[in-house]
Amino acid sequence: MPQWEGGKLPLQHKTLILGLGLILGGVFMWPHSHSPSDQRVAVALDKESWLSQLDYTPVLAEPVGKGPDFEKMVVKGDTLSGLFEEAKIDQQTLYQVLEADLNVLALDTLMPGNTIQFWLDDKGQLQKLELYFNAARQVIFTRFDDASFNAEEINIDGIWQNRTVKGQIQGSFYLSASKMGLTASEIQRIETLLKDKINFARDLRAGDKFSVLISDQYVAGQTTGSSTILGIDIHRGNRDINAYRYSDGNFYDDKGRSLQRAFQRIPLKHNYRISSRFNPKRLHPVTGRISPHNGTDFATPIGTKVIAPGDGVVTMVTNHPYAGKYIVIDYGNKYRTRFLHLSKALVRKGQKVTRGQVIALTGNTGRITGPHLHYEFLINGRAVDAIKAKIPMSKELSSKDKKEFAQLVDKCKKMMG
Ligand SMILES: [Zn+2]
Repeated sequence: MPQWEGGKLPLQHKTLILGLGLILGGVFMWPHSHSPSDQRVAVALDKESWLSQLDYTPVLAEPVGKGPDFEKMVVKGDTLSGLFEEAKIDQQTLYQVLEADLNVLALDTLMPGNTIQFWLDDKGQLQKLELYFNAARQVIFTRFDDASFNAEEINIDGIWQNRTVKGQIQGSFYLSASKMGLTASEIQRIETLLKDKINFARDLRAGDKFSVLISDQYVAGQTTGSSTILGIDIHRGNRDINAYRYSDGNFYDDKGRSLQRAFQRIPLKHNYRISSRFNPKRLHPVTGRISPHNGTDFATPIGTKVIAPGDGVVTMVTNHPYAGKYIVIDYGNKYRTRFLHLSKALVRKGQKVTRGQVIALTGNTGRITGPHLHYEFLINGRAVDAIKAKIPMSKELSSKDKKEFAQLVDKCKKMMG
């Protein structure tokens, strides 16, 4: 009963991480999908938005007024141990940071273009480590007296600004939408969302019209690269295919019928005992400090099948010395889930998965006291209680919601012309 997943790092994991390398290059782009879209993903329009964020002003004031002792923008091929070596920080300290990282799993998500900053004390010990992902997201590790670290996530919501993108089909939908300024990942989200309504490869004709309402995130006047689709309308022949995002995060057509398959609450085929609940205020049994439990632990025997709770794309399959083998699935639209301590992953990075698909087998990898599945549900980067959170679960809006939704559709339609 893994109330607490701490303890001593087993030796085999030390060797693991030393040889690990954590190659960062591969995570640069939005999920690759199967062949036809591989090429388009390589367009990587996101790259530009990442690059435009590089001359940032750090949001956080350094309390001692001292700049970092070592700072580097991550480039392709960089490894975590390599970065620590460059900063002259020993491997033992890296493990201590990785232990704190178990709660946020931020180090694995470093990408080329992100910045890592190290602050040292006069003995050359790491005092503070800051990861700068973009203006909306930073993670800061601070050293305690006992040489362990605290991980603090900073997620700034900023402001979301709407933009309408309109165009006509000339060639493929991808080319036409791309020409009007939609990114590869936005186009992929639209195609996934409407996949049961329209065959993008066959059904569209030259001259068909599309209109998309998008909300972009800005922090301190800069775009963060995060966007949410609010409305889509494709006018094909004399028929409209549309989708609007409601406040529950789900997409519905203008009659209020869900376009997405709803989420399943628990990513398992059967019920298992919950051995540790989501608890943002959990106390460390030894230090007494707050060490949040950002997920729900299910007491699953090794080899239990884990299923995708919704339709999404696998964005990470990796090993972590504390989290073990783990998988991240992104559902677009601000939702993400993480599955930790697996024995086997049955999917690869970039793969599309559908609700109910078996994605992995549970295990006891990482540093835990007994086999279990640690399941995290994140909304907009913040962990929520998967058992209680308001997630899209049903196929149709209630009559009360339908009224509110109709007003929203009216508003969207006006903005989309
Ligand atoms: Zn857990």
